[in-house]
Amino acid sequence: MNLIFLGPPGAGKGTQAQLLQQREGIPQVSTGDILRAAMAAKTPLGQEAALYVDRGELVPDDVMIGIINERLNQPDAQRGFVLDGFPRTLGQARALDRVLGATGRHIDLVLYFDVADDVIIRRLTGRRVCRSAAHIYHEELSPPRISGRCDIDGSELFQREDDREETVRRRLEVYHRETEPLVDFYRRRGLFEPVRNGDIESVYRQLVEIIKARAGSR
Ligand code: AMP
Repeated sequence: MNLIFLGPPGAGKGTQAQLLQQREGIPQVSTGDILRAAMAAKTPLGQEAALYVDRGELVPDDVMIGIINERLNQPDAQRGFVLDGFPRTLGQARALDRVLGATGRHIDLVLYFDVADDVIIRRLTGRRVCRSAAHIYHEELSPPRISGRCDIDGSELFQREDDREETVRRRLEVYHRETEPLVDFYRRRGLFEPVRNGDIESVYRQLVEIIKARAGSR
């Protein structure tokens, strides 16, 4: 299945996409992770992206569409994927239809993670991620077994530059203005399924149920 996880930053999209990848083998395609890897490697793309990412702004559509076109045409994405953090604008959503349509594919389902702004601010300012694979923790809500170390690969945990409070507020404003209109875009197409907020495992169970129900009705 070709899935989109839609919702504000910090709604749990990355955490759930990582679980689906680990447990069901569906590749997670996180545009934020792709950009951060390019930034860490200081490639030309990374240097351009940093101008936007560090301020909580969106990277321009043409750059993002190029990235997603390349990523979704790789072999592992041919049998399904979870898009985490893309599309974020109507222009990206329309371009995604074109990219997939070129190889006879389409989006099957859009899972919507709706979480209130005050909850998001608490989650993001306490979020920590690991250096090697961006595994996600929270200082209080989901701490690692050993402080400051990833449970999965032992690498160091750090705070993303854009998880500082002022930048989080900026990212939320950008989300409401640019990305929220996608809710109606996908609802009109009958692809839209809301996911109730809850703890990590209860959200995961809902997701699997929704995905199986949709797969069964195809
Ligand atoms: P994320 O990890 O999804 O929260 O993304 C982190 C940052 O990367 C965002 O705040 C944007 O600056 C940039 N970014 C990620 N995905 C996109 C996208 N689809 N369009 C524009 N910018 C993006």
